[in-house]
Amino acid sequence: MNDESQKEKLRQHFARRVTTQARVVLDTWQKIQDDRTQAPAHRDELIAAADKLVRYARRFEMESHAASGEQILTLLTDWHQDSALDEPMAKALEEATESLRLSTQRRTDRDTSSAPQQYRRTPVYIALSNEEMASRLIRQLEFFGFRASAFNAPADLIEACGLSKPETILMDVNFGGNNAGIATVEQLQEQHDTPIPIIFVSDEDGSIETRLRASRCGGEEFFYPAVDPGQLIEKIETYTHGNTVEPYKVLVLDDSRAQAKYMETVLKKAGMTAHIITDPMQIIHALEAFSPEIIILDMYMPGCTGMEIARVIRQQDRFHSVPIIYLSAEEDVSKQLHAMSLGGDDFLTKPIDPKHLIATLHNRGRRARSLLALMIRDSLTGLFNHTHTLHLLEQEIVRARQKEQPMCFAMIDIDYFKKVNDTFGHPIGDRILRSLSMFLKQRLRKTDHIGRYGGEEFAIILPNTRPSDARNVLNEIRERFSELTQQAGDREFNVTFSCGIAGWQGESAQALCERADRALYTSKEHGRNCVTLSDT
Ligand code: GH3
Ligand code: MG
Ligand code: MG
Repeated sequence: MNDESQKEKLRQHFARRVTTQARVVLDTWQKIQDDRTQAPAHRDELIAAADKLVRYARRFEMESHAASGEQILTLLTDWHQDSALDEPMAKALEEATESLRLSTQRRTDRDTSSAPQQYRRTPVYIALSNEEMASRLIRQLEFFGFRASAFNAPADLIEACGLSKPETILMDVNFGGNNAGIATVEQLQEQHDTPIPIIFVSDEDGSIETRLRASRCGGEEFFYPAVDPGQLIEKIETYTHGNTVEPYKVLVLDDSRAQAKYMETVLKKAGMTAHIITDPMQIIHALEAFSPEIIILDMYMPGCTGMEIARVIRQQDRFHSVPIIYLSAEEDVSKQLHAMSLGGDDFLTKPIDPKHLIATLHNRGRRARSLLALMIRDSLTGLFNHTHTLHLLEQEIVRARQKEQPMCFAMIDIDYFKKVNDTFGHPIGDRILRSLSMFLKQRLRKTDHIGRYGGEEFAIILPNTRPSDARNVLNEIRERFSELTQQAGDREFNVTFSCGIAGWQGESAQALCERADRALYTSKEHGRNCVTLSDT
């Protein structure tokens, strides 16, 4: 069987599972209908069945089933435990189950070949022995915009991985039995060229043997004893798309066009962004236009040497710490050392081994980025710090002016945050700051800049955005965030924020900030948990 037809078969298999679960819901409802006096005894069964249906239908993207299931669940929240089923409730449930019956028939009777859609985004898989914890996590993850699915059995997880490789798996060491979680992962990883990063949790076993085995099969994290959902979500976030590494931007200067082209091919193959120049006199222009993160310089060129070019580059503040790698046929070690003393970071000898080149670039690039992050990012949240946010705002004002585009600046301040700290402690306060920052990262566009402006204040720059659109987006984010359940031990609570937005009207960065700040103040005055758009 070829790959496609195998996938198709799997999809049909999943579609059947959803319709089977829909029948369980319908049968349970029938039981309730058959004997109303016994109805309260089946209430929980119906809730469990509908909940499972919603989870399956969402996972396999069968929208109408998911919608019917959700409708049933919503209705059931008004049917209290141990109380009789009243007539209006019975009628409403009958209507909801009828629509489920229709979608189930449509699929099986008229549309047998149709299968659920493929995932639109790579999913996160949850394989925990504690089902309640799993469904709570999924609900939380959905708030952050993740597509998460929980599994009850190793076989289901393996099937699903075959259909769609997840970005990460949260795995109970004991999922499916004694240490079976690790065995399942070992089996799974064999099916993929690049390993899936795994977050392991373990309630009972934190031994070095287990940790080693987990780490050897792709375990990036190992939580023992298990931790609360908030911490897990933070970890999941670090292994998912939101954080995919941007390709390194590498500038190559080599007077030999053939050599430069070869380098370009090697770099592109490794997923990096390459910009090549062959004329040393173009260097200033290339630095400005391309803003490289790493620079590769040929050692000997007509008119000047790589070392001289390096010195010129280092004279500019902005490129003072960009790694410079020399490339040359030179085998004289003392000359190489001299080159390094003049501001080079590495020396590679031609003919260059592509593997060696890429490894060197990765090391240099990673280090340069972490140094840069120390300068421009806030360590608690990973967002841009105050200084860099203002710097970006100034840049975006220039761009908005050039392109004659609208632009907005928003300030966010968490409501009654002092009280959160006082009630639940500072570490929980920190967790909430990180959770809001993750929330903003997930929900805003890649082109928006998010900064931590101060303690519990955030700033957002929205390029090419009209004020009314900015208000709609932030209002939506405000509402969703306020619904997010925060946890402190076994206590649950909600946190809200207030927001002020100012659309750029040709003024300076400082004046724009002041207007956003005033709008924020207005939101606070109006009772908090709202968004105000500055009108002047
Ligand atoms: P309002 O609704 O008026 O904004 O009330 P508020 O309590 O949020 O405002 P206030 O400015 O009085 O208090 C801000 C609190 O934020 C005080 C400070 O302890 C806390 N905070 C600032 N930075 C941090 C941080 O990094 N971590 C934690 N946990 N708390 C912080
Ligand atoms: Mg404040
Ligand atoms: Mg506050």
